[in-house]
Amino acid sequence: MNRELFDRARLSIPGGVNSPVRAYGSVGGTPRFLVSAKGPLVFDADGRDYVDLVCSWGPALLGHAHPSVVAAVQEAAARGLSFGASTPAETELAELILRRVSAGGVEPLDRVRLVSTGTEATMTAIRLARGFTGRDLVVKFAGHYHGHSDGLLAEAGSGIATLAMPGSAGVPAPIAAQTLVLPYNDRAALDAAFDAHPGRIAAIIVEAAAANMGVVPPAPGYNAFLSETAHREGALLILDEVLTGFRVGPAGWWGFENSDEVGYEPDIVTFGKVVGGGMPLAALAGRADVLDMLAPLGPVYQAGTLSGNPVAVAAGLATLRLADDAVYAAVDTAAARVAAAADAALTSAGVPHTVQHAGSLFSVVFSPSPASDYDEVRAQESWRYPPFFHAMLDAGVSLPPSVFEAWFLSAAHDEAALERIEAALPAAARAAAE
Ligand code: PLP
Repeated sequence: MNRELFDRARLSIPGGVNSPVRAYGSVGGTPRFLVSAKGPLVFDADGRDYVDLVCSWGPALLGHAHPSVVAAVQEAAARGLSFGASTPAETELAELILRRVSAGGVEPLDRVRLVSTGTEATMTAIRLARGFTGRDLVVKFAGHYHGHSDGLLAEAGSGIATLAMPGSAGVPAPIAAQTLVLPYNDRAALDAAFDAHPGRIAAIIVEAAAANMGVVPPAPGYNAFLSETAHREGALLILDEVLTGFRVGPAGWWGFENSDEVGYEPDIVTFGKVVGGGMPLAALAGRADVLDMLAPLGPVYQAGTLSGNPVAVAAGLATLRLADDAVYAAVDTAAARVAAAADAALTSAGVPHTVQHAGSLFSVVFSPSPASDYDEVRAQESWRYPPFFHAMLDAGVSLPPSVFEAWFLSAAHDEAALERIEAALPAAARAAAE
């Protein structure tokens, strides 16, 4: 059935998919066509179920189809799918986002604008930084993914890494030239970029903790260094928490790091994934003097027919209201257990590997020593991943179909789900050893 569905999809949809990594290009085989999901499980068109370690690439923090989230969505849908006008609920969501993040940060955030995708959030953040500073250049890091807007696709990790592409065709050279791509976790490279382009860099954009080239955490103090450097040079720091935000903790990675008193101040923070509870919703937040540059108050334009969509806002509100300390503790415990089981299975199969962590996010790098940047990630024995992936899939565990992605757990990954993962790992590790 999956095979027939894929063959049919390829006739009408490029590559049969609406987002490239779903095509299983780097692991081979036929993508599973999913028809439903519940808690830790996804169900395919053949009626098979899998313990899901993709979790919709992050949003499903509570597990799939949480009854309270589904009820909130149904209620909102019954009141109207889209108004293209302001709603009371969008202010509630904005207030909740600001309250949660400000509670974890050093400086409170003042404003938030809702958009529909992480790509829009980062694209708008860049435009805002340029409008605010009157400068054009942007620093990003190799292997970091910030969505698919033109200027941010160079060495962008995730699907680009999976397909071994350097960037994308169709991006005009003058636009690509506005982005300086630097190695991650390399302080000297950042200093050199500011020395080479004095007064021209509008912003540094960074994943709060890199998780789109597999998980590569920032070195201790690195984000604070980025913040200090940006501010010394009159540039803004855009902290991209689309993936980490409200997933690694109640206040995202910023709150997580600042709880260790690292202390730094991003000017704009972007959110997506968990903030929409599985619906198309994302956000950018920041200081009032920066965010109030947006239209209608300021000269930086941004808009959206579906921005603040009432059904998506209902899903986001319900999800964030449920995502309390107990939820984060459950995700942490489940992630630690799966990471330890993967580590043990690969060790006993004699597979060179390192499990890399950023809070509850983790992934396996098939190299004996930790990877701290994109070059080191790409140097791993990635050919070990496809047999590992397929052995897990055959045993009923759905991993991300690329070695360059994080593994996602949810609060719904219960004992039965965790035991199924643990039972599947030894054979998969042996498959990776061959
Ligand atoms: N930023 C980060 C860190 C992401 O992980 C992603 C998506 O994976 C994006 C931005 C883009 O978000 P979206 O896919 O909603 O456009």
